[in-house]
Amino acid sequence: MDVQIDANSGFCWGVVRTVEIAEELLKSRDNVHVLGHIIHNPREIERLEQAGLRTVTIEDFPSLSGSGATVLIRAHGEPPATYQEAFKHEIELVDATCPVVTKLQERVRKFFLDGYQVVVFGKKNHAEVLGVRGVCHDKCIVVLNAEEALEQVDVSKPTVLFSQTTMDRPGFFKVRDALKEKIADLVVDTMESIATDFHAKDTICGQVSGREKKLAEFAAERDVMIFVAGRASSNGKVLFNVCKDANPRTHFIEGLDELNVEWLENATKIGISGATSTPHWLMEQVRDSIQQHVAA
Ligand code: SF4
Repeated sequence: MDVQIDANSGFCWGVVRTVEIAEELLKSRDNVHVLGHIIHNPREIERLEQAGLRTVTIEDFPSLSGSGATVLIRAHGEPPATYQEAFKHEIELVDATCPVVTKLQERVRKFFLDGYQVVVFGKKNHAEVLGVRGVCHDKCIVVLNAEEALEQVDVSKPTVLFSQTTMDRPGFFKVRDALKEKIADLVVDTMESIATDFHAKDTICGQVSGREKKLAEFAAERDVMIFVAGRASSNGKVLFNVCKDANPRTHFIEGLDELNVEWLENATKIGISGATSTPHWLMEQVRDSIQQHVAA
């Protein structure tokens, strides 16, 4: 039996960077915390917690005050209010926000300050979107699909559309095209070009979008696919669906304990893939377990 891990799967460089910063801090300091789960993968969280990392929320800041605690900001980033709160409680922050997310926040801030109506294609309560909402004082419109955009966006205003970095690109294009059509209709109705100041900024991360095509090709060549990711991973859901569309015999697992060997029946080529937050060691565990099952 041929069992292969997808060479393009595993941590994106933004997550690698965050985990490396956490590991360095744990080597040199005590009392290291992270604000929210460091990544959407319970097994990797467990590993880092065993090394001493403690997960906290912003409500824990008052109790950390004066304790010499270091608090890490994870790759998703935070709203400005978090930095103000840390300053108030004299907590040292180490900022491991992914540079791609920082750039998104900067672009959103610029358009917001220039008076644009900011629309974000994403999940309202996703950590990254909470950070983006924060930079425009929660005055942006967050939409999950074209229908929501058509309902909520006033296209007579100068408008800019951004995307959460881990959303799917076809979905972004649907939202963009729906708004463009609505603008075109408005221009025809009013006979004025009042709504032509519209910008669509594709801010989907190349680390996510670039993987979809390669993953679909890899999955289509396999008899069975095992997709490993945390259930809270937004990117994991997108990539799992790509995998499932290319290969209906795709199964989602969070860890080795969920692997069901009955899925492998009559399969000779098995593929393993994961989200940008899935550690390579976890996919290796799954591969080794399948190989042991075959050898038994
Ligand atoms: S998916 Fe992209 S934006 Fe998100 S953490 Fe990774 S590199 Fe950064």
